[in-house]
Amino acid sequence: MRDFIREIDERKALGLYRTRRVVSGPQQPRMTADGETVLAFCSNDYLGLANHPALIEAAKSGLETNGLGGASSHLICGHHQAHHQLEERLAAFTGRTGALFFSTGYMANMGVISAMAGRGDTIFSDALNHASIIDGCKLSRATIRTYPHGDTDTLANQLAETGGHKLVVTDGVFSMDGDIAPLRELARLCKQHDALLVVDDAHGFGCVGPQGRGSVFAEGLTEDEVPLVIGTFGKAFGSSGAFVVGPAPLMDYLVQKARTYIYTTAMPPALAMASHASIDLVEHEDPRRQHLQRLIERFRSAMKDLGYSLLPSSTAIQPVMVGDAKAALRLSADLEKRGLLVTAIRPPTVPRGTSRLRVTLSASHTEADLDRLIEAFAACAPVTRSDVQPAIVTPH
Ligand SMILES: *Cc1c(COP(=O)(O)O)cnc(C)c1O
Repeated sequence: MRDFIREIDERKALGLYRTRRVVSGPQQPRMTADGETVLAFCSNDYLGLANHPALIEAAKSGLETNGLGGASSHLICGHHQAHHQLEERLAAFTGRTGALFFSTGYMANMGVISAMAGRGDTIFSDALNHASIIDGCKLSRATIRTYPHGDTDTLANQLAETGGHKLVVTDGVFSMDGDIAPLRELARLCKQHDALLVVDDAHGFGCVGPQGRGSVFAEGLTEDEVPLVIGTFGKAFGSSGAFVVGPAPLMDYLVQKARTYIYTTAMPPALAMASHASIDLVEHEDPRRQHLQRLIERFRSAMKDLGYSLLPSSTAIQPVMVGDAKAALRLSADLEKRGLLVTAIRPPTVPRGTSRLRVTLSASHTEADLDRLIEAFAACAPVTRSDVQPAIVTPH
């Protein structure tokens, strides 16, 4: 048998050991983690909706009218009116003709990618795509070709030399870097090479584009140009669940083929109702998005003045690059001594030598909260240069 305990010890020695904190109470910037009150800058609740009264009310009234359990899969007797209405709302919100509601974004990626490509087909995947995309590619049994992050020239060559059915998949907003994929160029290449484009905009919806309609909508790309867009309710929407939107016939195809849609219990209808309510909020929360944008700009300019190394991100995801995993843990621990919670992100979540503190800003942070974060980073002083391995400062 494998020596599992030794593997854990090896991880510890390399600074790659992972632990969990126990948080209590609602998700909000001032939260309790392992019994201590901290000011958190690492949640994906970008608009501060996870504890919004309107969503809690929608869930409560959903529980009263529809009970708790989903009780069955969608294809047996679990496809509730609440799920169906949510899909109609999602299609309207994203300007698409159809939508399909999944239990999580992880399952949406696994299900959509493995349904839309299979043995003998080729999937082209950005090197920094989310783990759930990578796993969806593996599940499909298609040939997987990775292209360097955002490198549309290499992708163009790969597409040109490959025959058969082709699928290109990318994060919209990249989850660990915060930059946005070159969507317009990807759409153009896919059209030219007859490839199906799938964009996972888990971090774009709610934050990017008019009314928070996401990075694909922000670029004005139609359903014909980007057929499948995936999103999650777990991040800016402040709820739970996920979706894919696109042409109605493809939604029908997914109902036939997406295993993570078919073989799982439908999400509690009350949660679908809370997610439905969150779309209404997201659509009308321009002030929250504007406040968030101001925080992002202030953070970037202050951190540059302090000499920290950032990535070219205009979104709420603002990684502070460190390089070495242990150095990232140390910086995170130093911030925590000052009452700030910013978790270190290390391999295998990010490539080796690119460990970082993934700072995420939220509309629920105040200007004073941001002052505290910047003061704490100032007190920690930029990580000594020897900790930064030069090759990694930009992953492009
Ligand atoms: C978080 C995330 C997912 C998974 O969504 P969940 O609903 O949390 O399972 C998928 N894709 C990306 C890019 C993500 O960041």
